[in-house]
Amino acid sequence: MRTRSGGAYPKPGSDNDATGNNESLKRRNPFGFGSSRTQDPPRKRFRPGDRTEFFEWLHDDLVLSILSKLAVSASSPSDLVNVLITCKRFNGLGMNPLVLSKASKNSLAIRAKNWSGSAHRFLKLCADAGNLEACYTLGMIRFYCLGSRGSGASLMARAAMSSHPPALYSLAVIQFNGSGGSKSDKDLRAGAALCARAALLSHVDALRELGHCLQDGYGVRRSVPDGRRFLLHANARELAAALSHPLSLPLIGSSSGSACPLLSDFGCAIPPLDPHPANRFLIDWFSSRRLEPDGLRLCSHVGCGRPETRRHEFRRCSVCGLVNYCSRACQALDWKLSHKAQCAPLDRWIN
Ligand SMILES: [Zn+2]
Ligand SMILES: [Zn+2]
Repeated sequence: MRTRSGGAYPKPGSDNDATGNNESLKRRNPFGFGSSRTQDPPRKRFRPGDRTEFFEWLHDDLVLSILSKLAVSASSPSDLVNVLITCKRFNGLGMNPLVLSKASKNSLAIRAKNWSGSAHRFLKLCADAGNLEACYTLGMIRFYCLGSRGSGASLMARAAMSSHPPALYSLAVIQFNGSGGSKSDKDLRAGAALCARAALLSHVDALRELGHCLQDGYGVRRSVPDGRRFLLHANARELAAALSHPLSLPLIGSSSGSACPLLSDFGCAIPPLDPHPANRFLIDWFSSRRLEPDGLRLCSHVGCGRPETRRHEFRRCSVCGLVNYCSRACQALDWKLSHKAQCAPLDRWIN
């Protein structure tokens, strides 16, 4: 591999390193790259203050390494995109599979209002490069938003096979509901097995879902104590996530603001976790679109965004019948967050 200005690493055994001393080489080249003057192609003269020339001395390997670190730490898609559009060279190197495979969850968090063919291609390139977050996010978008059930499920399965917890949990929800198929396609045992794998990886929603499944005997043999243990584990993980966020510390033990008494067993109140970017995309996508065909409903938990794929797919609140949930986990969380105060058996009151 070469620098843009034509330099190359010294070949082992060449005159430059025959003595094992690269000092003369470093003096000629400020970055220590390049071979002897007789072997190098003519280089542009470096002028102090000329930033373009300065960058051209950087070796491709070094630029790739920097871009990879940027991709890992990017907190939004613009962090990465703004660098890639800087110049043709950065764009070419930024699209290297090495960089795309390391793109962080937040750098792939494309907003629904910005969805385009280019965004789709970018996520596809990241997924093809082996980025599990891209596989999961694009899988969710294709399955629920674009209606490509087969390709969406296979992308999520690709991430799940590499033990990606949100992908395992989302496939569990699909199996529990028979999403994308008919009611007879529900596979409770497969759903519980996927949920257990995600729970073993400490995925909070999966821990909560499995806890309720064990308490109800849904897809697994009933065991109330085991179910209780998983629910406590989910609460503990939420508390750990809240404690890792310095702004949430004042909320512990309070009952005001956005805090939720999820840890009522311990007398603590913590804020709900931020939704995954894939869920955020679904929420934004369906907030501005009608669900097709008519009569389909969204999960009522504000942090979920999953829509029904056929009528009456989701479970309803058995008391008021006004809200619908894709899973027991969403129902339990929404109950504590808001529905507990809103739920009322209106028809009984009227009668
Ligand atoms: Zn849901
Ligand atoms: Zn209700």
